Amino acid sequence: MSKKKSTEVCSFCGREMPNMFSGMDGSLICTECIEAGHSMVATMPKQSDTPNNLTLSELPTPQQIKDFLDLYVIGQDNAKRFLSVAVYNHYKRILQDHSDDDVEIEKSNILLVGSTGTGKTLLARTIAKLLKVPFAIVDATALTQAGYVGEDVESLLVRLLQDADYDLQKAQQGIVFIDEIDKIARKSENPSITRDVSGEGVQQGLLKLLEGSIVNVPPQGGRKHPEQEFIHVDTKNILFICGGAFDGIERKIAQRMNTQVVGFDAQQRAARIDKNDLLQYIAPQDLKSFGLIPEIIGRLPVLTYLQPLDRTALRNILTEPKNALTKQYQKLLAMDGVSLTFDDDMLDFIVEKALEYKLGARGLRGLMEVVMTDIMFDLPSHKNIGTQQSFHVTRSYAQEKIDKAELYRLQNAV
Ligand code: ADP
Repeated sequence: MSKKKSTEVCSFCGREMPNMFSGMDGSLICTECIEAGHSMVATMPKQSDTPNNLTLSELPTPQQIKDFLDLYVIGQDNAKRFLSVAVYNHYKRILQDHSDDDVEIEKSNILLVGSTGTGKTLLARTIAKLLKVPFAIVDATALTQAGYVGEDVESLLVRLLQDADYDLQKAQQGIVFIDEIDKIARKSENPSITRDVSGEGVQQGLLKLLEGSIVNVPPQGGRKHPEQEFIHVDTKNILFICGGAFDGIERKIAQRMNTQVVGFDAQQRAARIDKNDLLQYIAPQDLKSFGLIPEIIGRLPVLTYLQPLDRTALRNILTEPKNALTKQYQKLLAMDGVSLTFDDDMLDFIVEKALEYKLGARGLRGLMEVVMTDIMFDLPSHKNIGTQQSFHVTRSYAQEKIDKAELYRLQNAV
C-alpha cells in the first residue's frame, strides 16, 4: 500500500481528494473514508473473547459485596444490605440452571430512594467496580417519549454498549443506573386523557427495558435512522438500579401511615413511628401516590432508602473512604514532593460549612477545592527537586480562604 500525493478520485466516495492510499490494484481510498470505516468497525457488536464467565464460586457473597461497599461508602447500612443481596441474586439468576426444574428466578431491579448527595450513584458505581461489569449512568430527565425532542430510552443502552467497548455479551450483563427517576413521575395520580410526554410516556418506554426485551439500539446513539443498522440488545440480564430523591414523599408516607394506624394497638404503633425519618417506612404504595405507574413499581421489586448524612457521616467522608477527598489531595501533592496534613479542627470546619449551607456530601468537594486551590497553585512552583516539603492546613487558613470566596457562587455551583 502506498500513499499518493496527487489529487485523484477516491474509489469509495468518488470525490477528488488529496493524500489517498492506494491498493495493489490501483484503487484509492481517502482519509475521510478510512475514518468513516474505522468508526463503523469500532461500533460493530463484537463477540467477546473473554465473556463474563462468572461462576457461582467466584461470585462475591452478599457479605463480601457489603464489605467492599464499606471501603468506599460511609454509612447507608440498610441500602448496602439490600443492594448486596439483590446484586448477588441477580448474578445467581444469570447463572441459574434452566434444565433442572420449572422454578425461574425473577429479576431484582433496585430502587434507591434518598436525598441528593447521599451516595446513590456512588453505591451503584462501586458495585460495578467490584463486579467489573460494564456500567452506565443516565439521567431520566434527559429521556423523552419516542418521537419527541430529547433522548429515546434506547439511548441508555448505547452508553452501556460504549462502556463494554461494543462487546454485546458483556453489555447484556451490565448495570445501568437511572438517576432522577422521580422526575418522570406523572403529575397526578390519575392517568390523564391527555398524554404526559415527559412523565408517563417515558415510564412506559422504560418499562419495556426493565422487564427484559430485545431492544433495537442505534450503535452511534441519537435518533433512529432507517439506514442505520441496529444492534439487538437483550435487556433480560441487565441490572437496572434506579435512584431518586422523591422530594415530598414523606408526606405521602405519613398520610398512608396515619390512615393505617387505626384499631386496637393504634396508639402504641403511632408512638413507635420515628417522624424525623419517615423514609425508612417507604412502601410501593407511596411510589404510586408519588406518580410512578404500578407496572414500573412492579419491575423494581427491591426498594430501599438512604439516610440523610449527619455531621459524623460527613466528617468520615472526608477521611475514611478508600479514595477520600483528603487522601486525593495528599496524593496529588505527594507527586510534587509535598507532604500534606490537615488539622482535625479544619476538617470539622469544612463539615460545619457544608451543613450551614446545606451542601451535603456533594458540597464537601467544592469547599475543599476553595481551601486547596492556592496551595495547589503555589507549592509546585516552589518545589526543590530531591527535598521533601510539608504543608499543614489549619482551621484559620481554611476559614480565610472560604471567607474570601464568593459563597453565594459556591452555593449556586453545587
Ligand atoms: P446521589 O446519587 O445520592 O445524588 P452521589 O452518590 O452522586 O449522590 O454523591 C455525590 C458525592 O458525594 C459522591 O461522589 C461522594 O464523593 C460523596 N458521597 C455522597 N454520599 C456518600 C457516602 N455515603 N459515602 C461517601 N461519600 C459520599
